[in-house]
Amino acid sequence: MAPVALMSLLLVGALAQHRTEWTYSGGALDEEHWPREHPACGGKRQSPINLQRKKVQYNPSLKPLNLTGYEAQGVEFPVTNTGHSVQISLPPTMRMTAPDGTEYVALQMHFHWGSVPFGISGSEHTVDGLRYVAEIHVVHYNSKYGSYDLAKSAPDGLAVLAALVEVKEYSENTYYSDLLSHLKNVTNSGESTVLSGLHIQDMLPQNLQDYYTYQGSLTTPPCTENVQWFLLADTVPLSRAQIGKLEASLLNHQHKVMQNNYRRTQPLGGRVVEANFKYQPNPERGGGSSQQQEAPCRPIRPGPGQGDDSLSQSGQRC
Ligand SMILES: [Zn+2]
Repeated sequence: MAPVALMSLLLVGALAQHRTEWTYSGGALDEEHWPREHPACGGKRQSPINLQRKKVQYNPSLKPLNLTGYEAQGVEFPVTNTGHSVQISLPPTMRMTAPDGTEYVALQMHFHWGSVPFGISGSEHTVDGLRYVAEIHVVHYNSKYGSYDLAKSAPDGLAVLAALVEVKEYSENTYYSDLLSHLKNVTNSGESTVLSGLHIQDMLPQNLQDYYTYQGSLTTPPCTENVQWFLLADTVPLSRAQIGKLEASLLNHQHKVMQNNYRRTQPLGGRVVEANFKYQPNPERGGGSSQQQEAPCRPIRPGPGQGDDSLSQSGQRC
């Protein structure tokens, strides 16, 4: 073999090795083997986690999150199939101030989901062991670093605002219609389109006040342990048909239908999850008036086209 050909073969080999793409399942670098190439994924401060509500510490001094620029309209949002999710790039005018005063700049928003036709929900965080149907992540970096590239490996570099998605059988969430109907434009990994009709704030839960917070990591390689998580207590409703569209429209980098793109929950270890609202378990049944039954939860404003049936049924959605 000519030396040049050999060189190029070695080079291609080296590139291929360097580029071993991680997966959730299948292939050489499935979830279990992420730490092999991304050591932080085997760390002790990983995300996602299961939130046990009775162990969450209520911290009354935690201020509400302050989101600015999220209500902007007429902005052009690049939307990309990353091979692992669908990602909406966000303008740096969208910012979040954390309770300790740290200002974070929004970078992108993406989703994790399961495969509901096969009975698999796909949120990353679970609450009292329950996995929700999907999860939204808005990734931010600490503004003091000036760019994501500089912030991404700093110990106080990142913050993720997260929300869980619930199925509301036949209630189309029209704030998601635009994104979902354009997924067909980004079927393949690496494809992008531009959407200008998105209202990012409306794609988040109505109640942006109540949240859980803890220190964790990115939930995908390199799993860097520098993320302050803010998981909103309120959820986003999507109809069953909308969930079906999210789960069936995209192909991953292996050219397979992009489904079950969520990581398993990781050990909490010695970490403490705090909340800025008080968790009160179910009231004792029997003898309680309807008023008492509704007392445990702070009121959640109904979403678009959303009745309050599930709220009143259980009284558990705090
Ligand atoms: Zn994510």
